[in-house]
Amino acid sequence: MQVRVRYAPSPTGLQHIGGVRTALFNYLFARSKGGKFILRLEDTDRSRFSQDYVQNLYDTFEWLGVKWDEGPDVGGPVAPYIQSERFDLYREHAERLVSLGRAYYCFCGEERVAKFHSDVQDEEGGAEGASFGYDRHCRNIDPAEAKVRAASERHVIRLKIPLGETTEFEDELLGNIAWKNEDVNPDPVLLKSDGFPTYHLANVVDDHLMGITHVMRAQEWISSTPLHVIMYQAFGWEPPAFCHLPMVMGEDGRKLSKRHGATSVDEFRKGGYLPEALLNYVGMLGASYEDGRDLYPLADLERLFSVEHLKKAPAVFDYKRLEWFNGQYIRQTPDAELAALVMPWLEEAGIAKKGDAAFEAAVLAAMPLAKERLHYLRDAPSVMGFLFAEPPVPAPEEFFPKKFDAAMTRSALAEARALLAARFPASDEELEEAYRARATELGLKLGDLLMPLRVAVTGSRASPPLFGSIRLLGLDRSLARIDRSLAALGS
Ligand code: GLU
Ligand code: ZN
Repeated sequence: MQVRVRYAPSPTGLQHIGGVRTALFNYLFARSKGGKFILRLEDTDRSRFSQDYVQNLYDTFEWLGVKWDEGPDVGGPVAPYIQSERFDLYREHAERLVSLGRAYYCFCGEERVAKFHSDVQDEEGGAEGASFGYDRHCRNIDPAEAKVRAASERHVIRLKIPLGETTEFEDELLGNIAWKNEDVNPDPVLLKSDGFPTYHLANVVDDHLMGITHVMRAQEWISSTPLHVIMYQAFGWEPPAFCHLPMVMGEDGRKLSKRHGATSVDEFRKGGYLPEALLNYVGMLGASYEDGRDLYPLADLERLFSVEHLKKAPAVFDYKRLEWFNGQYIRQTPDAELAALVMPWLEEAGIAKKGDAAFEAAVLAAMPLAKERLHYLRDAPSVMGFLFAEPPVPAPEEFFPKKFDAAMTRSALAEARALLAARFPASDEELEEAYRARATELGLKLGDLLMPLRVAVTGSRASPPLFGSIRLLGLDRSLARIDRSLAALGS
């Protein structure tokens, strides 16, 4: 049996970490089994629909470089399945359940139903299946009579949940799950009065028609699953396997949300993360691969993914860890590629001029030095800006080595300048040796000479490697900056 899985987002918000994790696990599962990964837009909830969210979904997939395998069109770029293009299908299926005696027309007006909280939620396609709600008022109307009324009266179609039974399924991760049918959302709406399907109907019909073999989704959907199993039984269909993924939490143990930091993929993109780093990190959220390695590029996860690697416990989203991943992937990116990636950030900071070949060459030349200091692409202006524009002269204290005052700092910097002018362009090792020897003669530490020099040349106490920076700047520009700084430190 070929594995067929899907990611089925509702475009009612921006794509966030939880959604990407679900998408990615499905994708990886398909790849690891030589199966198919399907993207399906569950846009049945028109009240919260926005085309911007659809666009954001496409942009997210594009940025991550994750592709789905199949859609309704053959040839050309593969479009996803879109539920709003398939409404007739859901209506037919709801009617089929009515003819099978497994669903019924409900004529209760909105005022009557509004009393029943869970039904209202249902009509909005909500995830919650509360244990109270509709009183099954129309369940016993004679089917022939109901059919006649349905021709002219406004109605919804409700699923007839068999009473006095228990519904069970085997979750691939969590094991056996059993719900008394009395605890399942009572006779939920499948088709709304405007003919639109609810989430439950469209989701189950599509999973069946698309031959989905495994439903892998966030744990918050688990309360819908008994209901879905009942629907499969009502249709006489084989249900897919279910696997509910561990929750993603913030470090305080609460569901990951804005309060913890960035959660939408857009924010990560704009924050200068590499998609490779996010894919690697998110692809391991709630999974463990115990071979002592840290980095699992997508291609490896595509090979190694397996439900056995998933953990039942909630996953904690660790921003520091992701930052570390990002730094690692930045360091692995070839210089030319990285130079192109940082360019928009340099342009935005007003440092780079678009299409300036000399400038681009200079950025490329600086890459080996700068990439060690980049945690995020957005760091580029602060890490390498000093190579292209004169940094403002820092306040005197910024120059001071430990326990130094302005006068001592000034004379250390003057020593450092003299040595640089005398020895440049010696190799990094020779320069360091020369500075070490001079520091010893002066009864100073190496850092006492190099810190003021670093601040003078780069404008900052934390810079890329100093001698490499001087090499990129050239001796003359470096000396000029030192002289500005000497003046600023007083005479
Ligand atoms: N449309 C649902 C969502 O937004 C799909 C849940 C499922 O995967 O069944 O997550
Ligand atoms: Zn009713």
